[in-house]
Amino acid sequence: MPDDLICAKCDSNADCSDISKTARRRREAVDGSHYGYWTIDCQGRLLDVNDTYARQSGFPRRELLRMAIRDLDACDDPAEMQCHLDRVLRIGHGVFETVHRRKDGTFWPVHVAAFADPGHGANIFAFLTDLTERKREEDAQRIAAVVFDSGEATVVTDADQKILKVNRAFTQITGYAAAEVIGKTPKILQSGRHDDSFYAAMWHSVLGMGQWRGEVWDRRKNGDIYPKWLTVSTVKDQDGNTTHYIGSFQDVSERKKNEARIRELAFHDQLTGLANRVLLFDRLATMMETSTRAGDYLAVILIDLDQFKLLNDTRGHDVGDRLLKAIASKLLASVRAHDVVARLGGDEFVVGMTTSSTERTNARTQAAAVCEKIRTAITDPVELGGVPFCTTASIGVSLFQGDRVTVDDALKQADLAMYRAKSAGRNAVRFFSPDMEAKLTQRVRLEAELREAIEREQFVLHYQLQVDIDGQPTGAEGLLRWQHPDRGLVPPSEFIPLAEEIGLISGIGRLVLRLACAQLATWASNPATEFLTISVNVSAKEFHEEEFVSHVLATLAETAANPARLEIELTEGAMAHDVESLVLKMSVLHKQGVRFSLDDFGTGYSSLMLLKRLPIDQIKIDQSFVRDILLDERDAALVKTVVSLGRALGLTVVAEGVETRAQRDFLARSGCRIFQGFYFSRPVEIEAIERMLLPDPVRDIRSR
Ligand code: C2E
Ligand code: MG
Ligand code: MG
Repeated sequence: MPDDLICAKCDSNADCSDISKTARRRREAVDGSHYGYWTIDCQGRLLDVNDTYARQSGFPRRELLRMAIRDLDACDDPAEMQCHLDRVLRIGHGVFETVHRRKDGTFWPVHVAAFADPGHGANIFAFLTDLTERKREEDAQRIAAVVFDSGEATVVTDADQKILKVNRAFTQITGYAAAEVIGKTPKILQSGRHDDSFYAAMWHSVLGMGQWRGEVWDRRKNGDIYPKWLTVSTVKDQDGNTTHYIGSFQDVSERKKNEARIRELAFHDQLTGLANRVLLFDRLATMMETSTRAGDYLAVILIDLDQFKLLNDTRGHDVGDRLLKAIASKLLASVRAHDVVARLGGDEFVVGMTTSSTERTNARTQAAAVCEKIRTAITDPVELGGVPFCTTASIGVSLFQGDRVTVDDALKQADLAMYRAKSAGRNAVRFFSPDMEAKLTQRVRLEAELREAIEREQFVLHYQLQVDIDGQPTGAEGLLRWQHPDRGLVPPSEFIPLAEEIGLISGIGRLVLRLACAQLATWASNPATEFLTISVNVSAKEFHEEEFVSHVLATLAETAANPARLEIELTEGAMAHDVESLVLKMSVLHKQGVRFSLDDFGTGYSSLMLLKRLPIDQIKIDQSFVRDILLDERDAALVKTVVSLGRALGLTVVAEGVETRAQRDFLARSGCRIFQGFYFSRPVEIEAIERMLLPDPVRDIRSR
């Protein structure tokens, strides 16, 4: 018996004679109990307390016996405790839960079973159970239940794989309610997509390592098959025996769809769904690798729609997009399934195909057949907004064996060949050949040199005299020459078209105009030359530039040249577009006195209507008609017609390329009054032309 056992009645020790044997036994039982125990009087003061309560509360027993129940109870509402005690006194017993405070200030939940002490008036004795552990377990279970239902789909089976429990997410994903699956095995979820060896490997891992993770295709209750990411874990008891299996999974069909979409975006052209550049390069590289082994030729076919920009600009991007989609379908229909069809952007498509030949000629025939199929498919009209639309494509092909070229090079070669097809008039197929490359290299060099030539002003203007029927000079045409540091004088035909194409023509044109106007100003001060005109050739591109007119006027002003002595030669090409602006520009300059001449007349598509509308002063019969004027009756007839037409419209008619006396005489008889050609003078440097214009040489010209 503990030394500190104190009699509740006399406050003496346990040897007090008042403590009966029964009471003593009760004390022994109370003290040995793992329940806490105390007795309180009607004031709530503790009269007795056992070791267990002292231990649980952390207060020494002596201290407790000086305390009242209100010092220990820590429930939120002190009145509640009193209420419980009153009830016990009223009906003799009562159970309730409350919270007690430990000596260290912490709280512990307590279950109280209290009884009114029959032998001691208003005393109450109570057995107290510490609920800390139970509460903790309850919390844990509540949390587990929430976790079980809030996370991934979960299925718990026993060791025989019989389903014991599933959560809400399981039902949501599989479509099965808990009652429909409990007692069955997860096999009911199988889709049939995996064979036995798949499940054998899964169970091998679960049994061997306690876990398996991976993607499984299962079937929902409604029959849909879907992918899920599954983790199967084992639960073992203390002896290491498996008691349960837990399967947790997520439905990954959305994720897989997104992944597929991302792949689609990364490797496919969004508009047409064809391969994009990345996928094309990848596929071509693989094809090259395979064909290297087999030795078969490969063809990279580049298809560029003709005039696509025009369609886009005139009918809008929607219509353009519809055409591109239609072309994509046509291309797919023209090739075999293992060939690759890609869109590189804009209106540029590429087909990569393997031929089944190790021999170049055969391979070329095969590729040419595919190209022809593509070309004709593209020319078939496409319905665009209810209207049939016809288009064509220029096609370039690079044919090569295995990996002898890189994908990049193959595409460059096909591109080069495609440009050949374009310059051959479009709607054509061209195969790459090494000489194309040589020409390209040459062109690239020429371009660089031309840029440098402009910077260093390596140009001179030569002049060719124009004379009247009496051999009197009326003016001169300025003809440009490039003084190339290595190649000497380069004729305009070799650089003007390139300069036009790469946007350098206006720089060159400005130089020509400045030289011509300066020359006019010089001639104006000499009576022998003051009446002469100088004509300059202006290309269509240059003329249509916004600042052309203001630039001409500024140059005339700067050089103080007489505008009436300046003649601008335009070809019929300049009249091909934007007639309104053409008329306007010509009129502005014409009002200032500048004359206009229609060069190479008869080689383009002049409309008589335009001839009437435009402020043209002169037409120049192209030298190609003059050349055979004496041999070909049709040329002769043509020249006569042009002369009459010119006269009828009040225009001066100049014959170009006059090389012989006979030609000059025939032209004169036909009514032509001005001549230009080698017969009178070649295009020469200014010094040479001026020598001709001095009194003696002039006479010499007249005398011819
Ligand atoms: P074009 O304006 O029709 O010039 C006449 C061309 O015929 C000149 O060639 C001239 O040398 C040549 N020619 C003159 N008489 C005869 C002849 O009796 N027989 C033969 N066979 N040919 C004759 P060129 O100088 O080579 O110029 C060629 C073309 O280059 C010019 O044709 C013109 O369209 C263009 N061009 C020349 N200079 C310029 C320029 O400064 N700017 C622009 N944009 N084009 C120019
Ligand atoms: Mg000319
Ligand atoms: Mg001409």
